[in-house]
Amino acid sequence: MDEFTLIKTLFQPLQTVGQTQQDPEHGFLKKIGDDAAVWKGQGNLAFSIDTLVEGVHFTPDIPPEDLGYRCLAVNLSDLAAMAATPAFYTLAITLPSVDLPWISSFVQGIRTLAEQHDVPLVGGDTTRGPLTITLQAHGLCPQPVYREGACPGDDVYVSGTLGDAAAGLKLWLNREERHKDHNPAQSDSYLIERFHRPTPRIALGQALAGVATAMLDVSDGLLADLSHIAEASQVQLTVDARRLPLSSALVERFGESQASEWALTGGDDYELAFTAPRSAREILRQIAEKLGIQLTRIGQVAERDEMSSGERGSVQVEHALIELGQVGYNHFPDNS
Ligand code: ADP
Ligand code: MG
Repeated sequence: MDEFTLIKTLFQPLQTVGQTQQDPEHGFLKKIGDDAAVWKGQGNLAFSIDTLVEGVHFTPDIPPEDLGYRCLAVNLSDLAAMAATPAFYTLAITLPSVDLPWISSFVQGIRTLAEQHDVPLVGGDTTRGPLTITLQAHGLCPQPVYREGACPGDDVYVSGTLGDAAAGLKLWLNREERHKDHNPAQSDSYLIERFHRPTPRIALGQALAGVATAMLDVSDGLLADLSHIAEASQVQLTVDARRLPLSSALVERFGESQASEWALTGGDDYELAFTAPRSAREILRQIAEKLGIQLTRIGQVAERDEMSSGERGSVQVEHALIELGQVGYNHFPDNS
């Protein structure tokens, strides 16, 4: 199968997803099939791009459907963190060969999530080489929430539960451990799914427009990510480790100490972390109830203390069960 047939038969059908939702006043004049897509726009447009490289971001044995789902999910999560509504996406894919069953499953994984959020694929690029996937998602955000608005006195919150994806990754990489368990089914597959198929918190992000003072999604680990809010907002954050939301699957499988270490430093959960004033506590309770999403108040924002905080944003952890070393993931650490 050549490049053009591949595009026509597999990628092009994704361009009609969510078509009925399109606003006639602004939208696509052209999607896939010309030299470029053409969009007639209006309002604030958020862009987010992520590249997934085999061997760096995923192992070669990841089910292709999960990989497709994940590629779109991590980008939609970035849009959620801006309080944006996903509008459309583009896909640049480099494939070592045309393995039709593999690509069809990959496309099906994308479709599953694309249909949930009514987002069409509007263009891309297809090339041959080591497996690499770059997906760019675009969203409308009338009231974007940045990382820089946290104020002293604000509360710090996180959605859902933390640490599940780090546990899922460990279980996925360590297949033997997975099989020797007495009851391998439930908790393990829940945790692995949390790693392979993160849930972008789109509705929550939108509900937090005008409520959250600063927000981001937790991709590198809670502490590493919160330090970006601390730095951008020029404040200091304190997290109470006893308040971290942990799933029962995680605690049962790995114990409380390991669970809270992963909750603080493990990545890939794609939950939203945000700050909000005390006066927003009641509305946040209502948002959580309406959306059926757990929101946990895990800490406080304080004035920046010039003496104790360095260049990087400072995040203090209280009542941690573990010693915290280097946190977060950095593709190019200082000494590499
Ligand atoms: P050009 O050579 O002019 O860049 P291409 O042959 O790369 O055009 O692409 C032809 C059309 O197919 C374009 O509309 C492009 O956006 C689309 N396309 C190519 N690859 C993909 C893909 N992986 N997903 C979606 N659309 C794609
Ligand atoms: Mg091209």
